[in-house]
Amino acid sequence: MTTMNTRTTQQWQAADAAHFLHPFTDFQALAKKGSRIITRADNIYLTDSDGHRILDAMSGLWCVNVGYGQQALIDAATRQMTQLPFYNAFFQTATPPAIELAELLAEVSPPGFSRVFYSGSGSEGNDTIVRMVRRYWDVLGQPQRSVILSRHNAYHGSTMAGASLGGMSGMHAQGGLPIPGIQHIEQPYWFEHGGSMSREEFGRVAAGWLEQKILAVGPDKVAAFIGEPVQGAGGVIVPPETYWPEIQRICDQYGVLLVSDEVICGFGRTGHWFGCQRFGARPDLITFAKGVTSGYIPLGGVMVGDRVAQVLIEQGGEFEHGYTYSGHPVACAVAIANIRLIQQLGLVQQVHDDTGPYLAALYQKLADHPLVVETQTCGLMAALQLGRRDGRGTGTRGQRFDEALSVGMVCRGHCFANGLIMRAVGDRMIIAPPLVITRAQIDEMAVLIRRCLDLTLEDCHRNRWL
Ligand SMILES: *Cc1c(COP(=O)(O)O)cnc(C)c1O
Repeated sequence: MTTMNTRTTQQWQAADAAHFLHPFTDFQALAKKGSRIITRADNIYLTDSDGHRILDAMSGLWCVNVGYGQQALIDAATRQMTQLPFYNAFFQTATPPAIELAELLAEVSPPGFSRVFYSGSGSEGNDTIVRMVRRYWDVLGQPQRSVILSRHNAYHGSTMAGASLGGMSGMHAQGGLPIPGIQHIEQPYWFEHGGSMSREEFGRVAAGWLEQKILAVGPDKVAAFIGEPVQGAGGVIVPPETYWPEIQRICDQYGVLLVSDEVICGFGRTGHWFGCQRFGARPDLITFAKGVTSGYIPLGGVMVGDRVAQVLIEQGGEFEHGYTYSGHPVACAVAIANIRLIQQLGLVQQVHDDTGPYLAALYQKLADHPLVVETQTCGLMAALQLGRRDGRGTGTRGQRFDEALSVGMVCRGHCFANGLIMRAVGDRMIIAPPLVITRAQIDEMAVLIRRCLDLTLEDCHRNRWL
């Protein structure tokens, strides 16, 4: 048992500051301020150590797709822990949950994916991607084909390989990244880079940057291109409809492997099982994690398409790679229960037919708010770009606030204080609520969002930022 209810918030904060180094955190700043301590959750609501109820519009960290407190997942973990808490898959052994999940993943994945390689997280999944695509070209007698192309402002995790594939400049500035053999092109972010082009026109131009890069590096040296269908951590950047079909054409033309990082977009987030299906891409490899277990327990991996699997199986010999927890039986048992629950509740269809379009309509209304200069949604992920309409902004579209004002952080502060978790990426406010969210709860969320935008607008006027 933890001592959950035996300490005050202040006592938790003091112990936290003394011993716990949080991820992606300025340690000293947080120690001064004190963490918010989350103690319980149910459905789409969190409870903190002071008893406040908070609507979790970020699904934890993009992962709690079926919401909190689902008994089927809890039971699956308990059963499997009792029966067999762990066994590995290294030495010609397997466990029933790992096998059954592999079967189920093949069933819900796009056509041409019948095999899976397990990892413990999305970052590890992308480490596997780097090893696997290079191994693929090695086996085919083209070891020089080792360069992997990615995009600026992409997020592919935080291990050496994951952070290198990612395009976060802050991350690259620490620890000698990116590792060799990884290069980046610009992202398909119309608001930032679209200039006077239409979205459709810009989508084709942005995809063309991949072709230019392939030609610059040399087509015989490029192993793969990796992208998130919708950039998540980068700010819910939904690409123009023309983007992915053109990326697919280019990868086909040059024989470059296409990797879809579906750690966020997978398992229903976009209203399809996988984001590549929403955008019309046919990847060779798919990275997954987060939503595969709805975050109840860590699990990740790579769905390996037939093109790659055949070469590795028939010609590859031993693949010298794996993790202790590849195919962890408890994690796999929870994933099975999670996917079955998504199927039983019809969540993918619900997002596609009902809650996704409902959220889109509400966001269209939020676009009228004086602080909002762009809105975008895709399934149950959405972004509000805060900006100015008085022509005094910075940036290519002339609508941005000065970065130093941190308007997004001001807005996020109001959200926190008003019982809503909404994330700020610069001045882009993003959400990705649990897929079980109902229309009534979306209404409740929209009221909170509007209230926080109003409070932020008042701050802007008071401080003469507008
Ligand atoms: C979160 C994320 C990852 C990394 O997953 P971890 O489980 O945190 O290692 C990789 N890719 C994308 C697109 C993500 O959103």
